[in-house]
Amino acid sequence: MGRIAYVNGRFVPHGEAMVHIEDRGYQLADAVYEVWALFGGKLADPEGHFARLKRSLGELSIDMPMSRAALTLVLKEAVRRNRVLNGLVYLQVSRGVAPRDHAFPNPPVRPAVVITVSRTDLAASEARAAKGVGVVTTPENRWGRCDIKTVGLLPNALAKQKARAAGAVEAWFVDDLGFVTEGASSNAWIVDADGRLRTRDTNANILRGVTRLTLLDVIRAEGLEVEERPFTPADALAAQEAFITGAGSLVLPVVTVDGRPVGDGKVGPVAARLRRLYIEQAKATAI
Ligand code: PLP
Repeated sequence: MGRIAYVNGRFVPHGEAMVHIEDRGYQLADAVYEVWALFGGKLADPEGHFARLKRSLGELSIDMPMSRAALTLVLKEAVRRNRVLNGLVYLQVSRGVAPRDHAFPNPPVRPAVVITVSRTDLAASEARAAKGVGVVTTPENRWGRCDIKTVGLLPNALAKQKARAAGAVEAWFVDDLGFVTEGASSNAWIVDADGRLRTRDTNANILRGVTRLTLLDVIRAEGLEVEERPFTPADALAAQEAFITGAGSLVLPVVTVDGRPVGDGKVGPVAARLRRLYIEQAKATAI
């Protein structure tokens, strides 16, 4: 059975799923998105992702395209039709279709909604986590509202390509003060030389990662020490461990930064344990 996508009220074969050429998401990146990890066909961290979707839309004055209850049903139906148990569900909401003009269409048009579902190769993703991945650093060059999850991802795409070309998996943006902000599609963490966990605070220009938020709860419940404050790439190299979090990466150990080893260059016990605990927690609360 082939993949199925949802486009503006219809389920259609993935290969035939189209949006209008004047969709403002396509022309102006005037759109937001969300990505849920799927465990056993259920949406992970539902609360956090729905809350962030509402916030992102609100910041751009785009209406919620439907109620949360209706959207949950549509997302779950998309997952069911694709028969995916472990994977990702992607939702994009644009301001809608209108003749090209930078200012918002007046009167407003209906937001355009697209959903796609993809399968994760669990064995490959566990093997990658067991081995750890490399990250490269790259100068922060994004706009000032990275807290809004918009599809304006060109700097992220270029950074990710830089990582890929270097044989790494993720790129960490580094701001003017020399601190890591976050990854191109993940939040960045270290276990510092004293064994304390550290990740950038959300006063910085970063996306408030839902996985990050759930993991903070997990960490506190475990009684581990954690600080939300900046670190530099040099701090990461001097750290015991590093890792990234996101709906796609879950909790993924980082063993090199710009080709140099983090700690002893091996996957550390804290990241490995937090990955396990995060997955347990996400499975238990998925809907
Ligand atoms: N930071 C950026 C720039 C991202 O694109 C993502 C996810 O796509 C994240 C962080 C992690 O966010 P979440 O844990 O909500 O997936």
